[in-house]
Amino acid sequence: MAQPAKKQKGARQKHVPQRTCIACRRSDAKRTLIRLVRDAAGRVSIDPTGKRNGRGAYLCNDPACWDQALRRRALERALRVSALHTEDLATLEAFALTLTPLNKDG
Ligand SMILES: [Zn+2]
Repeated sequence: MAQPAKKQKGARQKHVPQRTCIACRRSDAKRTLIRLVRDAAGRVSIDPTGKRNGRGAYLCNDPACWDQALRRRALERALRVSALHTEDLATLEAFALTLTPLNKDG
């Protein structure tokens, strides 16, 4: 017997923009999302302040999400670039290596 899915209360639109990780599609407030921004020249960089202009995308501070986004081209799709610049990809990969895998028991 399947349990009925827990009903969600009718969520009204908040004016807080939802930030969803482009890799795992979660928008868990416990996870810190890191903003990436694509500038007019099509270059992608990390935006720690979250204030830069350009098309943005968010990723968890979890190396697994970065790995997925870079390998599956989720980042390219989200930022609407045909391909990441080699230097940008290297920068993002290097950044991902500095992240600590999240503790699921957190
Ligand atoms: Zn994620």
